[in-house]
Amino acid sequence: MKLLEDRIKRDGKVLEGNVLKVDNFLNHQVDPDLMFEMGEEFARLFRGEGITKILTVESSGIAPAILTGLQLHVPVVFARKHKSLTLVNDMYTSTVYSYTKKVSNEIAISKKFLADTDKVLIIDDFLANGQAVAGLIDICEQAGAVIDGVGIAIEKTFQRGHELIAEKQIRLESLAKITAFKDGKVVFESDQEA
Ligand code: 5GP
Repeated sequence: MKLLEDRIKRDGKVLEGNVLKVDNFLNHQVDPDLMFEMGEEFARLFRGEGITKILTVESSGIAPAILTGLQLHVPVVFARKHKSLTLVNDMYTSTVYSYTKKVSNEIAISKKFLADTDKVLIIDDFLANGQAVAGLIDICEQAGAVIDGVGIAIEKTFQRGHELIAEKQIRLESLAKITAFKDGKVVFESDQEA
């Protein structure tokens, strides 16, 4: 998605450890117009699939997930993050290691909001090593829900996440694909195609 790639080129900052900082339009300050366009694109990609629910993780997945839910007219559920969870019967839980924060969190979704009749679209801001998405897949499997696909705003294709999703034969759509960081600059898959 050119609009998102242009915005990353303009405002993204490449940090140590292959981390892209995008806090002025996605991770802290949020640009609603850009989120709207991203929601439209995800909806275009997944419309007609019979999706009944969108799942994401708090907090940065929420904005793109909501704008997609707005277009597809389905509810959006965000998994809540906790440092640790004592066994709770009314929640599906999974453990997720955070790539950027280097800590493990439990993520949890209430059993009220996910059922075996659901067809789910998972949305998240970044795909790196795939731990966040793997946690959401695990929760869907616990609930017996069908996963229709995964929609990612920014994928770093040189990390392991997409392999993990491909192994599960789940459809993956990423709006911006970063193949490398070179001399502090972002290289997109579309740059190589051009
Ligand atoms: P994963 O679980 O795929 O390893 O990482 C996904 C999560 O880590 C995302 O939801 C995002 O919060 C965070 N993350 C991973 N890589 C980056 C990055 O390069 N920049 C930012 N801002 N967040 C990242």
